[in-house]
Amino acid sequence: MSDKETVSRREWLQQSVAAAAGGAALLAQTGTAFGQPPAERTRRRFKAWISRGDGPGRTTLHEATLRPIGGRQVVVRTEATNLCYSNVPAVLGQMSPTAPAPSALAAPNGTRRMADLAVIQGHGGIGVVEAVGPEVRRVQVGDRVCVSGTPQCGPCYRCLRGRSDMCQFLSAIGADDLVPIADLDDGTPVYENSHIGGLAEVMVTFEEWVVPIFTRLPAADVGMACSCVAVAGLGATTAHALMAIEPASSVAVVGCGPLGLSAIQGARIAGASTIIGIDPVAARRAVALEVGATHVLDPNVEGANLVQRVRALTSWPTDRLWAGGRNPAGRRPGAGADYVIEAAGLEQAVPKVERGPDPTGLLPMQQAYQMCALGGHLITTSIIRGDMVLPGNLFTIGGVTHHGGQAGGCSPMRDIPRFVELLEKGQFDAKRLATTVVPLERMLEAYEEVAYRTTITAIMTV
Ligand SMILES: [Zn+2]
Ligand SMILES: [Zn+2]
Repeated sequence: MSDKETVSRREWLQQSVAAAAGGAALLAQTGTAFGQPPAERTRRRFKAWISRGDGPGRTTLHEATLRPIGGRQVVVRTEATNLCYSNVPAVLGQMSPTAPAPSALAAPNGTRRMADLAVIQGHGGIGVVEAVGPEVRRVQVGDRVCVSGTPQCGPCYRCLRGRSDMCQFLSAIGADDLVPIADLDDGTPVYENSHIGGLAEVMVTFEEWVVPIFTRLPAADVGMACSCVAVAGLGATTAHALMAIEPASSVAVVGCGPLGLSAIQGARIAGASTIIGIDPVAARRAVALEVGATHVLDPNVEGANLVQRVRALTSWPTDRLWAGGRNPAGRRPGAGADYVIEAAGLEQAVPKVERGPDPTGLLPMQQAYQMCALGGHLITTSIIRGDMVLPGNLFTIGGVTHHGGQAGGCSPMRDIPRFVELLEKGQFDAKRLATTVVPLERMLEAYEEVAYRTTITAIMTV
């Protein structure tokens, strides 16, 4: 740096300070250069579904008063949120002996019991930023955002290794980690599931959980495409953290709920040529065919032959060993799917439609492993109950690569804008999945439809 430059910078600084009425304005400017204007102090009133206690009827509608925010906090006015099946016990209470009790839903890593707190359930949604803390950089007031079920902080060990689906912030969502964001009229502090909530007119979160999205599409459609289930299904098939699907490959999707149906769409978008949807519910198999499945199978009809049926459907024109056959030496009839997406999971409630063969989700998981091609890839996404048993030698030398992860291995800041683009361009069909759309006041009845599987999934709009 030359003397001339040094002098001129000093002069410029002196002039600026003088022009800025004692320097206060300059200070303010410097202070926000990498952040935002100071936090909005608000006593905003808002409606929220509050869950607490152990039994049914644990979720009721209240008015609450927002606390002031600071630091990296972001206030989002909710536009839409998905009523996720995994949250059924937390919202409706335990509905099945195989489902976890509400109090068991968060890591018991401290002194408080989650079920004793007044908690806004849900884990994410979409909306518009109303206020930001002074340290927030990622979003501005007025931005439309996805409040992602999975955070992405950026500099943690797992984010740096390309596994934002396992971001360290997910380790801090237990009862003792939550911070109150509002108060009920009787003074009870209000918390949010995973620092995000969703079943309320506002979500207060930290910037690690928000992803700016630039779209003007209707809230229900965007809420579906940005939901935890769509993100997991599209992530499991197209995100590079796990195993993105190759064109012209064969794919089996075990479970055609909203996550599996998103995976079927992801497989179609990725260019898979054989896509097999497997689900006991006839209505779900019908939607699977509409959104991209080339074949569907009913596990109750196939029974013990399910794995063999998938191997047969994924067979190749030749089995000849030296001619590209996929069944070398004919010892294992049928090829098996190049990619298997497991999206079945345990029953959170006894369905009022066709029931699958195993309420714990273990059998579909085992079958998913076994229907995978030798050298193929198994991507697992669901919540099951119990421990897995697999044929030992298939596991050790069968060549199946298992990819487990949160949210289908999705990296929120990289992948969610892609998924919004898929919606914008008509490649992802949100309407076939969001078969129930209700206003906030009718959230509970829509959640029962989700619990009983009488709808594909439900979106609450505000
Ligand atoms: Zn979810
Ligand atoms: Zn991280």
